[in-house]
Amino acid sequence: MKTPRTIEIIGGGVAGLSLGLALRRHDVPVTLYEAGDYPRHRVCGEFISGLDESTEEQLGLRKFLTDAKPHRAVTYHLRDRPLRPFALPATALGISRHTFDARLAGAFVAAGGDLRTGTRIPEDDRPPGRVMAVGRNRSGPFWIGLKIHIHGLVLDNDFEVHLGDRAYLGLSRVENGAVNLCGIFGRRPISARGANLIPAYLEACGLHQLAERVRSAATDPSTFCVTAASLGDRHVAEPDRVRIGDACATIPPFTGNGLAMAFQGAALAVEPLRAYAWHESEWDESAQVIAVTQRRRFRRRLLLASVLHPFFLVAWRQRLLAELVGSGLVPFRTLYSALH
Ligand SMILES: Cc1cc2nc3c(=O)[nH]c(=O)nc-3n(C[C@H](O)[C@H](O)[C@H](O)COP(=O)(O)OP(=O)(O)OC[C@H]3O[C@@H](n4cnc5c(N)ncnc54)[C@H](O)[C@@H]3O)c2cc1C
Repeated sequence: MKTPRTIEIIGGGVAGLSLGLALRRHDVPVTLYEAGDYPRHRVCGEFISGLDESTEEQLGLRKFLTDAKPHRAVTYHLRDRPLRPFALPATALGISRHTFDARLAGAFVAAGGDLRTGTRIPEDDRPPGRVMAVGRNRSGPFWIGLKIHIHGLVLDNDFEVHLGDRAYLGLSRVENGAVNLCGIFGRRPISARGANLIPAYLEACGLHQLAERVRSAATDPSTFCVTAASLGDRHVAEPDRVRIGDACATIPPFTGNGLAMAFQGAALAVEPLRAYAWHESEWDESAQVIAVTQRRRFRRRLLLASVLHPFFLVAWRQRLLAELVGSGLVPFRTLYSALH
């Protein structure tokens, strides 16, 4: 029997880690290079929405999500004014990336995966056997992404979404009971630093009551993080190499679907990569299958999300959205199923 070929994964976010773990179940040798380390907080709504059972099962994710908080309903707020609440068409899950990524990384190593943290790999090379799971496309435009965990904050629903002037953000609970506040904001000249950036940005975006709620609750500064946040892609990336997760397609964050897409991309890549590793196919053949299946699966939701995204960003469109939500005219279920 031939020795299996090694798969190299560049990037240990949810896409890279879940792929590595699934490949180890097929006895594929996997080396995963991650620029950072675990555990660590990341700018993310930590709200997993649209994860289908078959992906969850194929990647063996269930055991890592047992304590995730279930979220069943959402209330939108326009400039601090609550709109009518909605039931989510499917239960979403709240779990911190600090916990979840570290669980996946630990399981990958326990399954015999070779995890090299603190190692950044140049992205120009594209040898056979290499999978890019390096996260979002690095070209702009970028807004600022902010996140912090808050204790003792009472929510008016499982999930609160707030629309402000060139800003939107979500509030929902994660596994330890803390509320995760995470959002994207148009850049402004704000002099506050660290965790103080959050209430300062909320004020600047016209979200005064929310800023006050945040100030009077217990924020945990150790969970604060900031990043340049992408507004998302309109199309799936060119198939010039094997990419999964945001590196293949970054959906606008308002969908809460980026994590599920990262898992789905990983799941679609498992069988073609297994076949390559065990000499049942050549690299170009496996790469082609991965590119085609991801394009087919993600094309429509990316396009629709890019059309809807301005309704979350621009003041007059936010008002229109609020009117439609208020009058019950938003076909929430239809949009949800087209976006997930
Ligand atoms: C503000 C905001 C809120 C969001 N909220 C949600 C949400 O609530 N729900 C949801 O489903 N999605 C959300 N998303 C999207 C979600 O975070 C991403 O879709 C998801 O993290 C993609 O996973 P990934 O593994 O592809 O990339 P990432 O999680 O970004 O991981 C990529 C990894 O690659 C590493 N890396 C990069 N370059 C290299 C290199 N050259 N060498 C080695 N390592 C490298 C990085 O350190 C990183 O760990 C949000 C995004 C933003 C910006």
